[in-house]
Amino acid sequence: MAIVYLGLGSNLGNREANLRAALRGLWRRGRVEAVSSLYETEPVGGPAQPPFYNAACRWETGLEPMPLLRFLQGLEHELGRRPGEERWAPRPIDLDVLLYEDRIVGEEGLTIPHPRLAERPFVLAPLAEIAADVRHPVEGKTIAELLAVAGTEGVRRIAEAGWAGMAAEKRRL
Ligand code: ADP
Ligand code: MG
Repeated sequence: MAIVYLGLGSNLGNREANLRAALRGLWRRGRVEAVSSLYETEPVGGPAQPPFYNAACRWETGLEPMPLLRFLQGLEHELGRRPGEERWAPRPIDLDVLLYEDRIVGEEGLTIPHPRLAERPFVLAPLAEIAADVRHPVEGKTIAELLAVAGTEGVRRIAEAGWAGMAAEKRRL
């Protein structure tokens, strides 16, 4: 089993419900062991678009990185995301592999650690709650140290850890 950190985002439809549904879906292929608080964040890059809800989770899974990405893409599709949309366009769900153990992966369509992790406050703020002392295998700094540099501009915590409720607990769908 591998310890994986995922970033979750949504800025279309019922954003909180979309994130909860994604967390429930993750149980099909692993254990959701921790979920951060919920944040509302200003969009970065792409066209003008509504604010995101973001969160991060620690997931224990037996999936190797590439099958893991495919599973996440299937989950995104189930939750209404359609391929072919403009890059960084509004989306009901975005599931990113932030860290996979301390592995460095550079494959077609999959880069781990996530390439923009180290500079994105909307990823680092939730991630730091559940992985403060985890070291970024490329940057050589902990998540807390990266957050201290990136700052928290455009990022606002709107719900305490525990917001995900049942979605974060083991249950059958
Ligand atoms: P972003 O998540 O940066 O907002 P997108 O979700 O639109 O951008 O990008 C999706 C593409 O990113 C996918 O086609 C996927 O193959 C690629 N990708 C590369 N590395 C990762 C990763 N670590 N996690 C998720 N997607 C990744
Ligand atoms: Mg993505």
